[in-house]
Amino acid sequence: MIYWDYAAAAPPYDEVARTVEQLMRLHYANPSSLHRAGAEAAALIERAREVCAAALGVLPGEIKFTSGATESNNLAIKGAALHYAGRGRHIVTTELEHPSVYESCLQLQKMGWEVTFVRPDAAGAVNPEDVGAAVRRDTVLVSVMHVNNEIGSVQPLPEIGRAVKAANPRTLFHVDGVQGFGKLPASPGDFGADLYSLSPHKIRGPRGVGLLYVKEGIQLFPLLSGGSHEGGLRAGTENVPAIVAGAKAVRMAAERRGDFVSRILPLRNRLLAFLREIPEFTVNSSESGAPHIVHFSYPGMKGEVMARQLEQLGMQVSTRSACSSRLAEPSRVLLAIGRDESTALGGIRISFGDEHTPADVDALEQALLGAVKALKIAEGGMR
Ligand code: PLP
Repeated sequence: MIYWDYAAAAPPYDEVARTVEQLMRLHYANPSSLHRAGAEAAALIERAREVCAAALGVLPGEIKFTSGATESNNLAIKGAALHYAGRGRHIVTTELEHPSVYESCLQLQKMGWEVTFVRPDAAGAVNPEDVGAAVRRDTVLVSVMHVNNEIGSVQPLPEIGRAVKAANPRTLFHVDGVQGFGKLPASPGDFGADLYSLSPHKIRGPRGVGLLYVKEGIQLFPLLSGGSHEGGLRAGTENVPAIVAGAKAVRMAAERRGDFVSRILPLRNRLLAFLREIPEFTVNSSESGAPHIVHFSYPGMKGEVMARQLEQLGMQVSTRSACSSRLAEPSRVLLAIGRDESTALGGIRISFGDEHTPADVDALEQALLGAVKALKIAEGGMR
């Protein structure tokens, strides 16, 4: 079986898994405890903060640990909206966002905030001018993802960051960096971001930890109450093993980015060219997208039917993104880039990891041909 779902969850590096196990056994003390074991656990968290800060080019105090990027995105959006409600109640985001951003905005909308959803072009990129034009005097926050988790399109973040600040210097700019980090240059400073979310388990780290960069001086309304952890932003006993191992994965992903791209980009381009030759498929990703995500549709065929067929042929793929793969509706992202309903229902996402080889792509291509053949025979039999 070949695993092609790294964008949903990437297998942890051996070093990461070993760190989690060792720390669970050795550093179980509560970092808030005053004894030496507690102080040692607290020191490990501060060291992890420094490692993450160095990888992102920010200050250690600007890194906050959460339980995952879903929490980081919720905290960035609702935390900023609630803290800065006195400045206004308008938020700008895009139609492409991950549910943790999109639904946070919908929740605020129900609570009286106004939300502008900027539409992307047919390739899945938003125009910085459209984002700038949506920003108003009462816009508290703009949230735009770096790389779309479904089709891999990349947003022009430095230009968007500049457009936001030109329109209103007080508007905060949040970036969901989950699918971009380790694949593209990614530093909050380059994007002009005030808030930036990351998820170690997408870059071969452990689950149960997320990062939120919060630029010095910015305040957020905490979503969890009950302690002064993470500078009062996120109450709850820290997950020391996941934090330390997560920081290791962040460092490794930053160090290995160049290597990853030079090995995986040619494989991604080869797969894109192959898919375009299959008349039954509509390819929804392009060479200008992130190096690890390829998405295509088989219009009229449900994504899960194709995915099941591919699994029988030894390939584990996703239908869209992990969070939405059980939904029966057409993909919101594919509709946003102008695909029709039948195309938006039939998506398959292939996501690469650093372990994939040309032989894996050979096998995938054979499986894709086999799946199309089998599905056409089955379709013919049903008529
Ligand atoms: N943002 C994007 C773009 C993602 O792809 C994901 C995960 O699929 C998340 C946020 C949520 O991350 P987590 O799984 O750490 O909650």
